[in-house]
Amino acid sequence: MGNNIRIGKIFGIKIKINWSWLFILVLVTWNLTNLFGSLHPEWTIQKRFLTAFSAAILFFASVLAHELAHSLMARARGVPVQGITLFLFGGVSSIQRHPDSPLSEFLITIVGPATSIILGIFFIAVSGVGFQELDLQVENASDIISQLKPLPTLLLWLGPINLLLGVFNMIPGFPLDGGRVLRSILWSITEDLRKATRWASWVGQTIAWLMIMGGISMVFGAKIPFFGSGLIDGLWLSFIGWFLNSAAVQSYQEIVVQDILEGVKVEDMMRVDPPTVNGKLSVSELVDKHIMQKDDHAFPVLEENHLVGLVTLEDVRGVNKENWEDVLVNEIMTPRDELVTVTKDEDASDAFTKLSRKSVRQLPVCEGDEIVGFLRREEIVKWLKIHANSVMGNMMSISASMNRGFPDLEGEQYKERN
Ligand SMILES: [Zn+2]
Repeated sequence: MGNNIRIGKIFGIKIKINWSWLFILVLVTWNLTNLFGSLHPEWTIQKRFLTAFSAAILFFASVLAHELAHSLMARARGVPVQGITLFLFGGVSSIQRHPDSPLSEFLITIVGPATSIILGIFFIAVSGVGFQELDLQVENASDIISQLKPLPTLLLWLGPINLLLGVFNMIPGFPLDGGRVLRSILWSITEDLRKATRWASWVGQTIAWLMIMGGISMVFGAKIPFFGSGLIDGLWLSFIGWFLNSAAVQSYQEIVVQDILEGVKVEDMMRVDPPTVNGKLSVSELVDKHIMQKDDHAFPVLEENHLVGLVTLEDVRGVNKENWEDVLVNEIMTPRDELVTVTKDEDASDAFTKLSRKSVRQLPVCEGDEIVGFLRREEIVKWLKIHANSVMGNMMSISASMNRGFPDLEGEQYKERN
């Protein structure tokens, strides 16, 4: 994705930062500069800022450690890991979905929050302030903190924030870590991944709605144990609930789509006679004779009936108009060995996953070197529209989840993004 900055590799795992994270870095540093300033009025502004900035960077490292734990355990369990992206509110490990067993899912998930909690305890322990001292009245705690040097001050912020990160992620609402742990347990009991996902998603939605309602009643003055009361805290709780609810609903919709596609073969929904082109055509011939004549955005390229590549509108756009006469299709196409393809016996739900995960719009259906069909997003959308009414009766959720599953429905991109 274009919004991510690559920062390097750790243990061979690609690490990226989303731009939004830089915004959070500024915000956290700003807030902490003020917080440390109120705790230590005698500190210079540079001292406040440097302590705050270091705390923010270490917080970033903590989130990264949480995600690395997921990724490394995934790799140890034989589940491929593409990389880690750090976002606005944390990180996402691109781990191929659906680990092969409940135990794998349990282990891959639990190590994240466990890392956060261990880090939290570690930071508090090395700060040199005993746990029992912290367990005093709030005024006393800030009395203690106000006498601390920058490093222990920073550690006393970082420790609890890591504990919070670990505990928040263990809320049993899918797709949070806690929800995945719950799902792995339900999965091992029911031996049915879909049923387990559905139940975990329902639990997630229930908890999310309780948080939303709890937050609203806090706004109106009710006192909720642990969360307190008041406008700001109430709005926060509602906001987190709203966020959890949409995450749970989305994961449920993915299951609905998978359900409809279950047992359906690629052959059942593919286009049998896709328009193809010859690689020796010039780009201008491709445009005049094919692109402008048909409703298609992508054309399989054949040479003597063998599939050699795929050319799309996007590829054409990359060529300067004055060169259209001279450039040949097989110079701009995506070659065969870089194409994501399917076979006609493959499960449609697997094809759907390939389309979503690889960010492509269409999949050539191949039998050896020959193309026997073409499966585009449109075919799957059409199939879902026909079958959703009878199976689920919920068109809205289908189109919503299709849009999310296919993040680039407007763009013509074929090649993998990033
Ligand atoms: Zn996690």
